[in-house]
Amino acid sequence: MKKVAVIGGGASGMSAAIHAKREDPDAEVTIYEHGDALGRKLLITGNGKCNLTNAGISQECYHSRTDNGIISHILSRFGTGKLLDFFDGLGADLKERKGCYYPRTDTASTIRNCLVLTIKEMGIGIRLECGRTSLEELCSDHDAVILCMGGKTSPKTGSDGSGYALLQSLGLSMVPLFPALTPIETEEDLSALKGVRCEAGLSLLVDGEIRAVSKGELQPFDRGLSGILAMDISGEAARQKSAGKNVQVLCDFAPFYPEEEFRAAIAKKQKQNPARGISDVLSGMLHRKLVHYLLHDLDSREPDFMEKFTDTIKRHPFTVSGRMIQDYSRAQTVSGGLDLREVTKELEIKKLPGVYVCGELLDCDGICGGYNLHWAFATGAIAGKASVSRRKGEG
Ligand SMILES: Cc1cc2nc3c(=O)[nH]c(=O)nc-3n(C[C@H](O)[C@H](O)[C@H](O)COP(=O)(O)OP(=O)(O)OC[C@H]3O[C@@H](n4cnc5c(N)ncnc54)[C@H](O)[C@@H]3O)c2cc1C
Repeated sequence: MKKVAVIGGGASGMSAAIHAKREDPDAEVTIYEHGDALGRKLLITGNGKCNLTNAGISQECYHSRTDNGIISHILSRFGTGKLLDFFDGLGADLKERKGCYYPRTDTASTIRNCLVLTIKEMGIGIRLECGRTSLEELCSDHDAVILCMGGKTSPKTGSDGSGYALLQSLGLSMVPLFPALTPIETEEDLSALKGVRCEAGLSLLVDGEIRAVSKGELQPFDRGLSGILAMDISGEAARQKSAGKNVQVLCDFAPFYPEEEFRAAIAKKQKQNPARGISDVLSGMLHRKLVHYLLHDLDSREPDFMEKFTDTIKRHPFTVSGRMIQDYSRAQTVSGGLDLREVTKELEIKKLPGVYVCGELLDCDGICGGYNLHWAFATGAIAGKASVSRRKGEG
């Protein structure tokens, strides 16, 4: 009888355990979780609604510095359809909103409960509060060990970075870690914009060159820019900042108008309301707090006012702060991790046959929209199946 140990009972760990047991029902599969419950992080995902996959899953939605084809290989074997079938089989009813999939109940605990119920029904062992596990001991006692310890965001849910430390101690190549899917911290104090929600376009400028663009609803906060559009380019902002580059974000506060149309719209509104000053005209188009913030330093009597005015609204520069490089407090995932060239297509460590790595521990991070949970479930599925298919001593 095969014996498999799964370290970490989060998204990837539960998927790995279920897929291993399904592949070989006779196998003895045990999850070692150092927290007091399985899947704690799942409960806080998607604002408590758990956005667990996306209709548009594809390799382009993931970032990795070391991908050698593994990401597309994993996604081709476990795409959106496979994930939907998997959760259907667990008894979860899902629904789709703008390409994102959620439990029908809009409650993340539905997903966790279906996973945990299945794990118990299948007779998978659960060791909660397992304390420090020794990889050496687990390896000598098991045919395969699957490392699913997650990243280092929201450490109160159990993902405290100990998985990275373990991989590092094994002498494996690691890609430096940065917070990703996190608000972008700026040098500018944006407390005057608190409460504003507006449509915007962001361009990430690295040493003067545009590296990434995003569009959507912006939510400024006192120390920077939040909202999905900011989070999607935050990993790249942190990586470039840490490389000592000059990193700026140019914000287009009127992305719904190309520049010429924007000028024409202003001119038309001025003509319709000749008694109004420019800030009152603009207040009919943009949030009033935003108008005050943007026009603060401009003098409408200056000859180049209109140019400066267009610039400040269509290309408003913010300087990315170095603070965001190590601030994981608001991040949803980690960029970096185990170099993907260290593992086979079955996610087995080449130098340590029988040891597999899944989820956030790997150098692969997705954009917002269910891509990171999908990666966790997909890698768990591949490694779980492979773990019971190998023969001891193989590799
Ligand atoms: C606030 C927030 C919202 C998010 N929302 C979404 C979303 O809506 N959609 C999406 O796709 N992604 C979302 N994510 C990201 C997603 O949660 C992660 O990418 C995913 O959970 C990673 O899965 P994992 O299995 O690798 O790690 P985790 O789910 O973090 O699981 C790791 C598990 O391992 C355990 N563990 C750690 N170290 C040890 C050890 N040494 N011994 C034993 N056990 C250990 C931990 O306690 C934990 O249970 C969100 C993240 C956050 C923080």
